[in-house]
Amino acid sequence: MQNYCIIFEIETNPLFYKFFFRRLSFFALFCTIYLKNELYIVSKINTTAMKIYPLYEGSYSIDKNHVFKSFDPIVDLKADRKGATFLDINPFLLVTSTDVILLDTGLGQRNEAGELKIFDNIRKVGYQPEDITIVLFSHLHKDHVGGLATTVGDHFEMNFPNACHYISKKEWELVNSLQKYTYRFKGFEMLENSEHIEFLTESMGMINDQITYETTGGHTDFHLVFHIKEGGEHVFFGGDILTMPEQVGSRLMSKNDKDPKKALEVRNVLVARAAAEKWLCVFYHGTHIKTGRIIENNGNFEVVEV
Ligand SMILES: [Zn+2]
Repeated sequence: MQNYCIIFEIETNPLFYKFFFRRLSFFALFCTIYLKNELYIVSKINTTAMKIYPLYEGSYSIDKNHVFKSFDPIVDLKADRKGATFLDINPFLLVTSTDVILLDTGLGQRNEAGELKIFDNIRKVGYQPEDITIVLFSHLHKDHVGGLATTVGDHFEMNFPNACHYISKKEWELVNSLQKYTYRFKGFEMLENSEHIEFLTESMGMINDQITYETTGGHTDFHLVFHIKEGGEHVFFGGDILTMPEQVGSRLMSKNDKDPKKALEVRNVLVARAAAEKWLCVFYHGTHIKTGRIIENNGNFEVVEV
């Protein structure tokens, strides 16, 4: 009888419920975020001919000075970072019948063991860094090139030694003339004569039978986007011009673009083309949706997750 009374008292105490449900919702949030990230790392999109793996590197906020700060939704509050942009970083691994392609290389973050997260993620999906044959760079902001090379003493070693790295020549020349490290990393110019780098000198062109590129500008002066086609599938990598699903159908200009007006114009043209030609878009900074197709409904565009 005594025990019964104690239990009854606890169960009818509103504080008990408040405490219990707060803990329960906290646990549910933790499970959702943990599973989301784990699943994204191991998830695979099989198109008719290609396999696509998002390689989630982490969640971040960027302030007005372009400083990246890790953002953990479990412990950090968006309200504490007023004016910041919140995003994930997702390089992509794309496997065609002839190549293992990496789309940008992330910030170059390392795990607790000191290993590059991108290496860890590539291995989780069954490949090795040495398997990469092509690396495509949309532009040279540091959250896109941080995983390109590792400093060893007074020189760099390429992280993907068997890959040909494609970079816009004009973007390269421009950023190496600036003393600003929102672009690339220190000493980047030392890679100028690397046999591993192939500079793209035309405003648009073909890399091989499957890959074409276009210069869009807008986000940076010589920002590139890439199209990879095989077996009837058309994968589109929009870099930071079309970088998250929330930009689709939005009229908002972004303070993260160098020329916000041009970026918006280019983005809208790409969105319309993507919908008309059923491109499979990969979103480098997507948080909830990393890959999707854009559909048009009475002049309105939206993303359907794939
Ligand atoms: Zn950028």
